[in-house]
Amino acid sequence: MGGYDEECDYLFKCVLIGDSGVGKSNLLSRIAKDEFHLDSKPTIGVEFAYRNIKIKDKLIKAQIWDTAGQERFRAITSSYYRGALGAMLVYDITRRTTFVNVRKWLHELRESENEDMLVIIVGNKSDLGQSREVEKEEGEVFAKTKGLCFMETSAMQNLNVEEAFLQMITNIHNIIS
Ligand code: GDP
Ligand code: MG
Repeated sequence: MGGYDEECDYLFKCVLIGDSGVGKSNLLSRIAKDEFHLDSKPTIGVEFAYRNIKIKDKLIKAQIWDTAGQERFRAITSSYYRGALGAMLVYDITRRTTFVNVRKWLHELRESENEDMLVIIVGNKSDLGQSREVEKEEGEVFAKTKGLCFMETSAMQNLNVEEAFLQMITNIHNIIS
């Protein structure tokens, strides 16, 4: 790709996980490029993208990995999780099955080598309130019982995406510094 690379104090690897179609690739393109795509091509996703961010004088380079359409159960290899400090576990508030499957994804995360990864549960597509199948409170309560962060987002309307990303990076920073 070329281009310049700023000096950074930390490199944080983070991963996006969750069922197919919940909006992971669009969350990533919002975070990294501030773009949204109505027609995502799930199997042609990038492997990862970068986003630099400054927290308390420290320049953090976040390397965020996308599944590139490998969301079938156990299709994601251990190298995907290897070295990851944070995970955005995404479901779609208009499809309850994607919320039910959050447990499955958490389980898979916990089996990966880095058990103390910082996890934020993200209920995406909050702009589709009229077809909501999962109440915000349900997501909140679930995350709370697991001791995890929680946020509802809309990649489409760019609501809370930056906040969710910032919360994850800030919390990782707090843990390691
Ligand atoms: P992925 O399979 O998890 O990577 O999901 P994608 O990012 O490919 O998104 C799947 C579909 O949902 C695409 O048609 C997106 O345009 C759409 N989508 C993603 N995020 C949102 C959102 O916040 N709101 C709405 N209404 N649609 C979204
Ligand atoms: Mg995708």
